[in-house]
Amino acid sequence: MNEIKIFAPATVANISCGFDVLGCCLDSIGDEMIIRKSADKGIRITKITGEILPYETKKNVAGVAALALLEKLNTELDFDFGFEIEIYKNIKPGSGIGSSAASAAGVVFAMNRLLGEPFSKLELVEFSREGERLACGSPIADNVAPALFGGFTLVKSTDPLKIIELPTLPDLYAVIIHPQIEIKTSDSRAVLPTTISLELATKQWANLGSLVHALHIENYELFSESLVDFIVEPHRSKLIPDFDKVKQESKRAGALGCGISGSGPSIFTFCKGEQTADNVSNAISEVYKKTQIPYHVYSSKINTQGVKILEL
Ligand code: ADP
Repeated sequence: MNEIKIFAPATVANISCGFDVLGCCLDSIGDEMIIRKSADKGIRITKITGEILPYETKKNVAGVAALALLEKLNTELDFDFGFEIEIYKNIKPGSGIGSSAASAAGVVFAMNRLLGEPFSKLELVEFSREGERLACGSPIADNVAPALFGGFTLVKSTDPLKIIELPTLPDLYAVIIHPQIEIKTSDSRAVLPTTISLELATKQWANLGSLVHALHIENYELFSESLVDFIVEPHRSKLIPDFDKVKQESKRAGALGCGISGSGPSIFTFCKGEQTADNVSNAISEVYKKTQIPYHVYSSKINTQGVKILEL
């Protein structure tokens, strides 16, 4: 086996009360990538379509994640080939639905497969979070973990890295609106509070606990009640035009909950069933139609598998 084509999924991180820890994987939104073994050693990015992104290995998250895997491998084996990477980008960088994470997770998944699976999924998360270090300055795992494990994941700790795989609700859809505006990472960080009250913290961890419980007992109502963020959303939502209206209209159309995807500007909603997801798509599109801001709406089931093989 010398070549593999994969689907590298988009992900939602910072799910409401699960800021920095809770993420989930999407099914019908993602990039495609082809990874092949090459006679030349090292990592080369040979094709990128869809977006303008760096070809230089060390400046592209896919290259950086691939190098992290290779480095580990080289300490264990001396092998005499390299890898070429082609990236067919569909997820806009900076959209808040894990564009960089998809590339980082996709490449290490594919290389691992071509190498006969020497690494565990947890190790793949370790390599791909090096790509995230390039994209956002710190080796965050809350997008790459769901991209690799699928479903909902909880980053229990980052040092040592511990990921908990959570069950998903069987009929759950995510509907996401991506307003095509840029929010600077520095701005989305600057609005975060540096301290929080014990009262808010208590409410937040009660919600995160009950949300995890809801996933385990398949309780949509409890899931919905728990999708509340008392700490980050009240600050960051001010950076997203018409966030409150989107939230209100999505709830009116039957959504279980709504929040900021990643650090924005995308807004996610969760819905039970395809019909409700369609209603919510329409309702939130209507909100943005009234603005001058271009937007894109996506609807997807939760992907319980993570990165998928398209061709071997
Ligand atoms: P998102 O907000 O969708 O999660 P990120 O902020 O994670 O997107 O990543 C976007 C940043 O990473 C951009 O600065 C982009 O130029 C950089 N980047 C480097 N390589 C890639 C890649 N292969 N895919 C996407 N973004 C990349």
